[in-house]
Amino acid sequence: MTNVTLIPGDGIGPEISQSLVKIFNAANADINFEIENAGSDVCNETGELIPQSLYTSIEKNKIAIKGPITTPIGKGFRSINVYLRKKYDLYSNIRPSKSFKGIKTRFDNIDLVIFRENTEGLYIGEEKWEDENTKNSAIAIKRITKNGSYRIIKSAFEYAKNNGIDKVTVVHKANILKITDGLFLDIAREIANEYDMIEMEEIIIDNMCMQLVTNPEKFKVIVTMNLYGDILSDLVAGLVGGLGVAPGANIGDDIAIFEAVHGSAPDIAGKNMSNPTALILSGIEMLKYLNMNDKARKIQYAIETVLNNSNVLTRDLGGKATTDEFTNEIIKYL
Ligand code: NAD
Repeated sequence: MTNVTLIPGDGIGPEISQSLVKIFNAANADINFEIENAGSDVCNETGELIPQSLYTSIEKNKIAIKGPITTPIGKGFRSINVYLRKKYDLYSNIRPSKSFKGIKTRFDNIDLVIFRENTEGLYIGEEKWEDENTKNSAIAIKRITKNGSYRIIKSAFEYAKNNGIDKVTVVHKANILKITDGLFLDIAREIANEYDMIEMEEIIIDNMCMQLVTNPEKFKVIVTMNLYGDILSDLVAGLVGGLGVAPGANIGDDIAIFEAVHGSAPDIAGKNMSNPTALILSGIEMLKYLNMNDKARKIQYAIETVLNNSNVLTRDLGGKATTDEFTNEIIKYL
């Protein structure tokens, strides 16, 4: 039995987490979920956004899966998600996006993964006024390091190699940001030399946006810096049906946290209307990370069957089903 820390989160978090646990139990996945919460509700009870017991659980289990967390405005961390990524050096943000036949979008065959550097770039939070008195201009620092670039680009190439994919697309703006993005691109070229069977494609971020909304099916693995990755991964999520079907993972050398990337949806919380797909797909990614590939395939088959062929879908996907009905429908196909 593998212990996994489950952080249900706020709003719809507990409902979609319940659905995840129900499906994993029905699939006999060899996972023991250790529930430790964080976020707004916990803060109201205990005064702490992240209780010590959550850190202890993550550090013991080395693997966690989390629902959305409401970051209370005006106090504590800017974002609990960003905080956990920094604390545990979870440098790879991995966002798979896949088309489902039952979810009508402009494209039928999107199947790609974005590798976003998660710890540096413009997200180091170093900003300042040039002149505190006038506040007429401000500066943000973008930090790119050799090591930070190496480890995310290497992860993308390794993923391509292990999945039989013959192209990695590196996204940058090195024509303008010659030193920072230039460094990232140089490291990518060095790494590409180690992989004879994989072509490296270099695309400038603005062109990439245009190509993704016109011809996304030709991309398989994309690797890029923090801000570009943040924007591109939501853009592609939109192309396959929105954040409700977008899984995510934050992976470091020692610890991994899997997560639904949507928010806590306070407008529908507690109404049995939420779509648990993003969290379930994140759970499937977690099983693959744990080398539990049979269970991953079993749950993937069931959810794909429901999304592709069933009319038991939640409202955000155009159906009428409740979270419970949708969950039970997936269990039927396990
Ligand atoms: P949101 O993603 O919560 O909601 C946007 C819209 O999408 C809403 O109409 C909501 O009902 C719908 N939606 C989102 N997920 C859904 C699901 N699984 N099923 C059905 N419908 C779904 O974004 P928001 O309203 O901007 O943010 C609400 C709160 O969530 C904020 O407090 C924010 O800080 C937090 N947030 C957390 C995370 C995270 O923890 N990963 C990410 C984004 C926002």
